[in-house]
Amino acid sequence: MIYDNHGRPITYLRLAVTDRCNLRCFYCMPEAGVKYLHKSKLMTYEEMLRTVSVLSELGISKVRITGGEPFVRHNMIDFMYQLSEIEGITELNITTNGILTGQYIRQMKEMGVRSVNLSLDTLDKKRFFEIARRDEFDKVYQTLFQLLDAGFEVKVNAVVMDGQNTQDIIPLTELTKDNKVSIRFIEEMPFNGEGSHYPKLNWNAPRILAEIRSKYPDLQKLVDAPNSTSYNYQIPNYQGNIGVIAAFSRTFCGTCNRIRLTATGDLKTCLYDDGVLNIRDLLRNGISDEELKNTFINVFKQRPKDGFEAERNRKSIITESMTTIGG
Ligand code: SAM
Ligand code: SF4
Repeated sequence: MIYDNHGRPITYLRLAVTDRCNLRCFYCMPEAGVKYLHKSKLMTYEEMLRTVSVLSELGISKVRITGGEPFVRHNMIDFMYQLSEIEGITELNITTNGILTGQYIRQMKEMGVRSVNLSLDTLDKKRFFEIARRDEFDKVYQTLFQLLDAGFEVKVNAVVMDGQNTQDIIPLTELTKDNKVSIRFIEEMPFNGEGSHYPKLNWNAPRILAEIRSKYPDLQKLVDAPNSTSYNYQIPNYQGNIGVIAAFSRTFCGTCNRIRLTATGDLKTCLYDDGVLNIRDLLRNGISDEELKNTFINVFKQRPKDGFEAERNRKSIITESMTTIGG
């Protein structure tokens, strides 16, 4: 197990496998003019597998695949099988928008994927189109129930946006009545790829929670897992639960066990940093596994204390899209 300079163990990698996506969620990507990266700039599957292997020797045991939309990358499912076979990786999960996901359910079960995060910000078809700019609500909604039926631990990620979907907080919460699903409301972060829109956070975690409590006054607090990003609750006699993620207020940094690798190989030791070094370039320049291991150890000893420090240390202001970071 490896610890950072603030005594936090690093055990969890979020791996963005592509910058491409088949939706255009407005909080994540501009509607038009997105310039996708040339394929040669992306980490190859072999490079990612080697990196994860080295990280697993340092104590990373959990990997979450993300993107862009992971399943738009060719042969993603084969790559996932290979990842799942790396010794030391005991948990492999995925975050997906659910459009192409249904066809891979059997394989995901087979390779031992336990948890799937599905992004769904509204239960209203029209609002879905306004937010994601593609008419795909039915597909995503169907995938939600396919995943639940297949026995995955499903966490629905819903970004809460002022003037867009706050009327969905209660209907989404109601999904937990008859379904063993976790609905997680996420504060909107300034990663929409345009840089011009840094949200004034009208809907922060306490306000989201207050909205839920106004309808369900007997909402009960659950015990949160040690490195949980969400504060979790349950309505008595409901099957599922609710989480609130203070992603913008950054109240979860004290127990952060996560690092991120972007599709181009930028290593991020905090969601809000602008990349501490590029792993793809190190690999292409012939670094050995031992040297790579020492490089990781070195950067883990220089992690910012929290997302505010990481943002202050940036060389430039935030302009990137969440598709490059992975969430
Ligand atoms: N395409 C996949 C999906 O949507 O689930 C995976 C990648 S997406 C970037 C990962 C997560 O980041 C999604 O749950 C999405 O809602 C969240 N996200 C994207 N932009 C965000 C933003 N500006 N603020 C908060 N969450 C955001
Ligand atoms: Fe695509 Fe996910 Fe970003 Fe939406 S949040 S545009 S589905 S990467």
